[in-house]
Amino acid sequence: MTDKRVGVYIHIPFCVRKCAYCSFYSSAADEDVKESYTEALCKDILSFEGKGIGCDTVYFGGGTPTALESGQLVRIFDAVKEAFELDGDAEVTVEANPDSADLRKLETLRAAGFNRISFGVQSLDDRELSALGRIHNSEKAVSAVTNARTAGFENISCDMMLGIPLQDTDSMLATAGRLTDLGISHISAYMLSVEEGTPFFEQGIEADDDRLADMYLALCKQLGSEGFEHYEISNFAVPGRRSRHNLRYWQGREYLGFGCKAHSFFENRRFFCDEDTAEYIRVDSHRLTVLEEEPDKPEEYILLMLRTSEGLSFERLGLLGADEKRIGRIRECAKRLESSGLCKLSENGFSLTEKGFLCSNAVIAELELC
Ligand code: SF4
Repeated sequence: MTDKRVGVYIHIPFCVRKCAYCSFYSSAADEDVKESYTEALCKDILSFEGKGIGCDTVYFGGGTPTALESGQLVRIFDAVKEAFELDGDAEVTVEANPDSADLRKLETLRAAGFNRISFGVQSLDDRELSALGRIHNSEKAVSAVTNARTAGFENISCDMMLGIPLQDTDSMLATAGRLTDLGISHISAYMLSVEEGTPFFEQGIEADDDRLADMYLALCKQLGSEGFEHYEISNFAVPGRRSRHNLRYWQGREYLGFGCKAHSFFENRRFFCDEDTAEYIRVDSHRLTVLEEEPDKPEEYILLMLRTSEGLSFERLGLLGADEKRIGRIRECAKRLESSGLCKLSENGFSLTEKGFLCSNAVIAELELC
């Protein structure tokens, strides 16, 4: 078994219908396009065959991966297993829309080795779901989670959203409570962000920062009291169920992305596949755009690790190339943040508090100037 390990990300850019707030690269597609895309993905993945690269996490994201047939998802996963040396205990996640994950499909995926599923639930209030333009209702979402458990998935995550039109703190907490009552092991909670080009933007819907902050802190408190560890700005897990794939991103470890618009960090370069679906299907050799060669390691470490409850270590910062003076300035800055209740400082390093997570962008910008 090789020592080199990557995470593998597979991008499926298809959705049944575009949600009103979505700015991701995804669209509806007919069956021929989905099949051609599956073939192109397999070919792309198999180009890594024989390179002796190991893999400990696989993540099918989108779009909506379950917009593909289960047989297509299994073929893509088989290509991953052929091209990479997959660890026996690899975490294999598939994102799913509650509307396109029936029991049979879930059973097929579980039997093929998928062992983690992440549902885009967003809310269990039907008025809020319809305001978002989601195709599922709360009943579908609950039955998708139940079906996943019946199919043998023990590691189930749900996405929920804060700041939905018509949502208030009570309805948001009620969604979280019903999800945890279903026995799920992980919640990703994202704040609504209104991006240009989306129907929400056209309708003049705006995120209310104060309301979002109140909701966020209330959610942190409720999930904490139910045994969920708040291990990253937007992510909560019961012990032992943190997303190993996403931790790889935040810890600055290597990953390879396949599919149009998929990002990679490999051999010290950050790059992404700058093609649309049609181009990706058409060409054999994919156009990769390099975002960064040799990223500034201390800066990147600060940016990524301050998202996590682990925070950053001064020793590691030094090992990555930050000199004593810079570390001293960062330590002073952390003292100021601590006096405002935004971080927890120790001899060895510091991490942001939940209040600090709320203004992490401003904190990171301040640290970058140190
Ligand atoms: S299901 Fe997800 S990716 Fe697809 S349109 Fe809705 S938000 Fe976007």
